[in-house]
Amino acid sequence: MSVLEIRDLHVTVETDEGTTPILNGVNLTIRTGETHAIMGPNGSGKSTLAYTIAGHPKYTVTGGTITFDGEDVLEMSVDERARAGVFLAMQYPVEIPGVTVTNFLRTAKTAIDGEAPALRTWTKDVKESMKALKMDNKFAARNVNEGFSGGEKKRHEILQLELLKPKMAVLDETDSGLDVDALKIVSEGVNRAKAATDLGVLLITHYTRILRYIKPDFVHVMVKGQIVEEGGPELADRLENEGYEGYFPAEAPTD
Ligand code: ADP
Ligand code: MG
Ligand code: MG
Repeated sequence: MSVLEIRDLHVTVETDEGTTPILNGVNLTIRTGETHAIMGPNGSGKSTLAYTIAGHPKYTVTGGTITFDGEDVLEMSVDERARAGVFLAMQYPVEIPGVTVTNFLRTAKTAIDGEAPALRTWTKDVKESMKALKMDNKFAARNVNEGFSGGEKKRHEILQLELLKPKMAVLDETDSGLDVDALKIVSEGVNRAKAATDLGVLLITHYTRILRYIKPDFVHVMVKGQIVEEGGPELADRLENEGYEGYFPAEAPTD
């Protein structure tokens, strides 16, 4: 079993107004085999948490710790995080000019495993995963993220998840911009990866829709850079009905 532990995490970002605190003491423990959903209103800091786990240089950790199996994640380079088994599918993945999906996947797999995958099984694995995600074969020859539609980006993320076999996956807004059919295909991919490798999942979402297909064991609500409530799947059901309004105090009467 592996465990990702986030303790009292404080994160700031530089804006025109100066140093702005975004995360104000986040605590979270995720073990392999568990699926955690982080929900919350827009602007609450969900993506900031994902980027911080990923090691994005824009975000400065000013307090607290992130460890993976006791190792200090904040001391690791982005590559070291991937090699340790932490997978980040980002909300807006970058284009990599001139690098095809095939080459990208093989390079990533080689970097993470420390050796190139055996060609025959690898080619077969790629084909099977693409087929399961209902991706056209031609997709493999395209350049990474160049002209990808929102749905193609998401499928490409899940393709990586299935092939790279991380221990822990952070999925930020995997549901955004997907129609119901695509959402089902992508969710099935995540569920296959979970079944295949005892994957731990941190699923970040504003909406409850995806949680009908990927069942969370734990639900955490983030508001203003803090986790303000935690529970099981029933919490997501409640949020579906009530929204996030209850977390914001009503305006005080003026008279
Ligand atoms: P969420 O994913 O929950 O919608 P974000 O983490 O994207 O929230 O944003 C939280 C807050 O931090 C927002 O007010 C946002 O404007 C600000 N923020 C996040 N990233 C940056 C950045 N790179 N530069 C400036 N402000 C940022
Ligand atoms: Mg947002
Ligand atoms: Mg976000």
